[in-house]
Amino acid sequence: AKTDGRGTYCFFEPAMDAGMQKRRKLEVDLRQAIAGSQFEIYYQPQVNAGTEEVVGFEALLRWHHPERGLVSPGEFIALAEETGLIVPLGEWVLRQACKDAASWPGHVRVAVNISPVQFRSPSLIHTVISALADSGLSAFQLELEITESVLLTDSETALATLHHIKKLGVRIAMDDFGTGYSSLSYLRLFPFDKIKIDQSFIRELGDSKDCAAIVKAVVDLGSSLGITTTAEGVETTDQLDQVREHGCTEIQGYFFGKPLPFSHVEKLLRKG
Ligand code: C2E
Ligand code: CA
Ligand code: CA
Ligand code: CA
Repeated sequence: AKTDGRGTYCFFEPAMDAGMQKRRKLEVDLRQAIAGSQFEIYYQPQVNAGTEEVVGFEALLRWHHPERGLVSPGEFIALAEETGLIVPLGEWVLRQACKDAASWPGHVRVAVNISPVQFRSPSLIHTVISALADSGLSAFQLELEITESVLLTDSETALATLHHIKKLGVRIAMDDFGTGYSSLSYLRLFPFDKIKIDQSFIRELGDSKDCAAIVKAVVDLGSSLGITTTAEGVETTDQLDQVREHGCTEIQGYFFGKPLPFSHVEKLLRKG
């Protein structure tokens, strides 16, 4: 243990050092990764629940770490947010996803995740406008996925940003619906185009009557508000049958396809 300069002992410091060192290494790696283009976007299909036609793809970030191989966003998004690196990284995702999607048929959308930190960045609107202009992608083909946490702090500014983006013709989806605290009041505050029902509810559909009731209630709520609903994380035929029965508009999950590199998306779209 060391003194912290005020004469008190910090017994937890050695343990913190190891964690901090790992974090610092990850942060250095992350900075290098942004500079050295070690990132790739994978795309996961979203299909119409009735026709099973592909209506869009969600852009999901992947990091090709030089030593560790493919690193998933669960391992680095939080740190990228804490360090602010999510802003340049998120800008890159937005620009690249728009470029990629510009070669798809006009009815196929691309959905891009926007971190709360990136959402609050003053450059967001400009980035959206210039990503569309540079790629030639129609605004209607772009959907931004945000979580309700963006509305938690300074909600007036957040609402103004959302309205501005929507005026451009870009669609706004509420991601991970049901996992936060105030979902319902936010639906009243802003006309979302889509609700994505969190996969935790879909996973339990087979075992939990409560989850089925919640999914049904969210779909009904969506349909009376004129909002599309997407079931996330559909893996089995049983889950598929249930979300269809409840009336979900769109489906995303391993059942229809895992996230794929861009080159595979082209093949998938050509096939059908
Ligand atoms: P999310 O936005 O909720 O994305 C859905 C996650 O669920 C993805 O994980 C996807 O691969 C996974 N998934 C989809 N279908 C299934 C399924 O049937 N079963 C299971 N078990 N999982 C399924 P992924 O790609 O690891 O991304 C995790 C999270 O990282 C995302 O959750 C999102 O919050 C964040 N993320 C990913 N890419 C970006 C990005 O470009 N920017 C930001 N800000 N966040 C991102
Ligand atoms: Ca998402
Ligand atoms: Ca989600
Ligand atoms: Ca999530």
